Amino acid sequence: MIPPGETIGILGGGQLGRMLAMAAAQLGYRCHIFAPEPDSIAAEVSAAFTCAAFDDAPAMARFAADCAVITYEFENVPVMPLAALGNVPVLPHPRALETGQDRLIEKGFVASLGGRTAKFAPVDLPADLVAAVAKVGAPGILKTRRDGYDGKGQWRIGPSGDVRGLDLPAKPLIYEGLVRFAAEFSVILARAASIDGADDDIRFWDSPLNEHEGGILARSSLPAPDVVLSQVDAARDLAAKVARALDYVGVLTCEFFATADGPVFNEIAPRVHNSGHWTIEGAITSQFENHIRAICGLPLGDTAMKARRVEMRNIIGDAAEDWAQILADPANHLHLYGKGAIRPGRKMGHVTRLTLA
Ligand code: AMP
Repeated sequence: MIPPGETIGILGGGQLGRMLAMAAAQLGYRCHIFAPEPDSIAAEVSAAFTCAAFDDAPAMARFAADCAVITYEFENVPVMPLAALGNVPVLPHPRALETGQDRLIEKGFVASLGGRTAKFAPVDLPADLVAAVAKVGAPGILKTRRDGYDGKGQWRIGPSGDVRGLDLPAKPLIYEGLVRFAAEFSVILARAASIDGADDDIRFWDSPLNEHEGGILARSSLPAPDVVLSQVDAARDLAAKVARALDYVGVLTCEFFATADGPVFNEIAPRVHNSGHWTIEGAITSQFENHIRAICGLPLGDTAMKARRVEMRNIIGDAAEDWAQILADPANHLHLYGKGAIRPGRKMGHVTRLTLA
């Protein structure tokens, strides 16, 4: 167990790091943020900040020397520099990063555990695309294998399968068949390592219905509709297999499509997730607190929902919101991330609304 008072290192400096640092502070830990951007909103609420590139080995070694454990809030952290951190544990294990960073590896891994995914084919060179579309069928979505998030790095291919005129990057891609789904949902779990050789402890939060706009999560609501609820058990079984296969410690998110044939796995986020922000006020223990507990070897808290209904909506870009009006409704909880620059599609905050009775 890492005792309160010790320092937790967090790779990545965005809102997830900020909310992790706030949960860590509640439990008496210090946080040290390591991020390449100088204006880190996680560093603002943390004791220490190293602003350096992830591949700056001396900076990474100095950072590690200050930390009792290191975690990450961002899955595109390069794995190689983490191998040189000496004796400081990195949790979840960087193997989870490697798996989640590459859509081709991720889908192959989940399929090997018996999970259903969209049909897919690698597109290593632009010339592979025609064969991939012929194999998988159209319509579909072409995605960068790495570094994609919030719908970035994706191109839709229409039912005709016509791929002419696409301006594609010179990067490895994956082509996926379009899944016809009734709804999207996520399974968010926390896994604590076995303590004293006892069984591991996996706790699930209720699964929200996730609605996206322009490829970005707009809303997560609970309870999810029956079309999702009827598929949650099967999705949880798969998510637990993923967690055990990776010997995962911390919070893991798996995103799914609810289809007529059952849950289809979409992607892993080896970290706390936007669709779990509702847990801050809506669950007995939040995803952020349980992540800190898990990586510090503390017992996990209860994940039960504590309201009848919960809705979390993101505040995105320059949405003209009236903060006073939001807060005039006593059911609302407003979170603003303190980001200076407003850009289209940038997540600036969120509002969680609880219905208790
Ligand atoms: P992703 O970055 O893979 O999470 O994709 C962003 C969003 O695009 C998802 O939440 C879905 O709404 C949609 N999407 C991604 N892949 C597929 C697919 N194979 N079939 C249908 N919709 C998809």
